[in-house]
Amino acid sequence: MRHVIFPDMCMFIRWFAIVALAAAIGCGGRGAGTPAPTAADAAAFLVTVNETMLRLGVEQNQSGWVQQNFITDDTEALAAKVNQRSIDTIARFAKDATKYDKVEVPADQRRQLNLLKLSLVMATPSDAKEAEELTTIMARLEGLYGKGRWCGNPEKPDTCLNIDGVTKVMATTREEKRLREVWEGWQTIAPPMRKDYARFAELSNKGAKELGFPDTGAMWRAKYDMPPDEFTKELDRLWDQVRPLYLQLHAYVRMKLRAKYGDAVPATGPLPAHLLGNVWAQDWQNIYPLVAPANADPGYSLTDILKRRNLGALDMVRAGERFYTSLGFAPLPKTFWERSLFIRPKDREVVCHASAWDIDLVADIRIKMCIDQTEEDFTTIHHELGHNFYQRAYKDQPILFRDSANDGFHEAIGDTIALSVTPEYLVKIGLLDKAPDTARDIGLLMSRALDKIAFLPFGLLIDQWRWKVFSGEVKADAYNRAWWELRLKYQGVAPPSARGEDFFDPGAKYHVPDNTPDTRYFLADILQFQFHRALAKEAGCTVPLHRCSTYASKEAGARLNAMLSMGQSRPWQDALEALTGSRQMDATAIIDYFAPLKQWLDEQTKGQPIGW
Ligand SMILES: [Zn+2]
Repeated sequence: MRHVIFPDMCMFIRWFAIVALAAAIGCGGRGAGTPAPTAADAAAFLVTVNETMLRLGVEQNQSGWVQQNFITDDTEALAAKVNQRSIDTIARFAKDATKYDKVEVPADQRRQLNLLKLSLVMATPSDAKEAEELTTIMARLEGLYGKGRWCGNPEKPDTCLNIDGVTKVMATTREEKRLREVWEGWQTIAPPMRKDYARFAELSNKGAKELGFPDTGAMWRAKYDMPPDEFTKELDRLWDQVRPLYLQLHAYVRMKLRAKYGDAVPATGPLPAHLLGNVWAQDWQNIYPLVAPANADPGYSLTDILKRRNLGALDMVRAGERFYTSLGFAPLPKTFWERSLFIRPKDREVVCHASAWDIDLVADIRIKMCIDQTEEDFTTIHHELGHNFYQRAYKDQPILFRDSANDGFHEAIGDTIALSVTPEYLVKIGLLDKAPDTARDIGLLMSRALDKIAFLPFGLLIDQWRWKVFSGEVKADAYNRAWWELRLKYQGVAPPSARGEDFFDPGAKYHVPDNTPDTRYFLADILQFQFHRALAKEAGCTVPLHRCSTYASKEAGARLNAMLSMGQSRPWQDALEALTGSRQMDATAIIDYFAPLKQWLDEQTKGQPIGW
């Protein structure tokens, strides 16, 4: 669940740190008299890197697993220590890798060296003082967000809301004044971050330059096997493919919100940012009841079926496993069943947010979830297992290649499989007697669009903003203006009140102070539909795309495995081709998937203004 309640936790735990907070040790420069590094040196270096990263990765996974399964001060301290050691080591390796920039090495070694340099989200400058300053700033930014609270009445502590409280109000309250107050309230946590953020951008750029990148944003974009500027254009091209559907959804939601909130919602302009059920307007699912189509109830509830048949957590996971074995994948190992966490323990604190793990980076795969008998968890199990089967498929690759083709792919795989949890699939596995009539699908498609389509422009613009900040195109005195310009341009969303430069609204989104790139979520949302369409074709589906399940298709499974087993060993275009036959990302699969909804929206918004 990428960005739903806890908007920022990925369900798949990366085994090595992607954020280098540590002071990096020793940079690449050679002193006079040092012999030039050779291809043999590069090969030896990579052997060391692989061995060290395997060892540290396993330690990090083990300590992370224990910490999340037994939350105590001690397990947290131990896990933090191991994490820091990994981060330091990878930061050092990344800088050392630049020594071999001009050495001629075989292509797969060059790729490993590049990936090593790109494994950092933030590179610290080699100057020890600056490195320390940057580390301190990052900790402070995270702290400001983590401790962020808004109090309606500072005299009364029970009026104070943290992000969980704010999220709940935004999701459930339908009173415009209260929503506005809480929305504005939450943004008050961010202005103290503004100065730190400017300095962070400056220092992290310095570190990126030392690794050979023009700035931090360019370093992020360099991950995608194409020139950074071309990648930016590619994202806009994908967005343009989806935009007509987004415009229809936007117009329809505006019409419905206007019916509910009156003149607080303009007839023709942008949507007010505080009325979309989420404090960042990045997921509109919570306003489903306000925009629900009539007669769109599917006529069954999987949650009720699970309860009625008393299917427990293990039964649900077994069903998820059967999906993958039906595609031709080997069953999960015995250790998966012995070591996973499926049920919330009664006797201790655990992190219940669902995640998938690959502890030994070979075969010790697990999930950690507190499973309830709900449709949502049934789908999430399919999603999490997608990570596990991916991890196992690339286990024979060198360590640096044991990851998804690009960072959008891992999340996309889990979601691709989740798209196959259709009524027809439930019929096939005996949970449902008869699939409902397709005339009732508009409700399901609407709900899915409020999640996935509404997210796309936001997922795109957060990084657009940061890239402009890192490159210097947006200066510190225009942070907020640039933020709202992008939100207007992509989302068609506007703040409920004037937001001058006294504010720092980007900082009220966790991924900004936390420095997590967001492009991967945008890509995952696009790719999952492209994957689904390709697999559906392979499975010989003749029903509409949103009704197609690839369950039990060995052909689809073989295609999927061809891609998964490549890991990150080849440019993502090769991996994409292995599954879809195309080397280009293509958002038209979204249009195909939502075609019935698009048609329905066109009818609903006939005569209504479109756009803003
Ligand atoms: Zn996930």
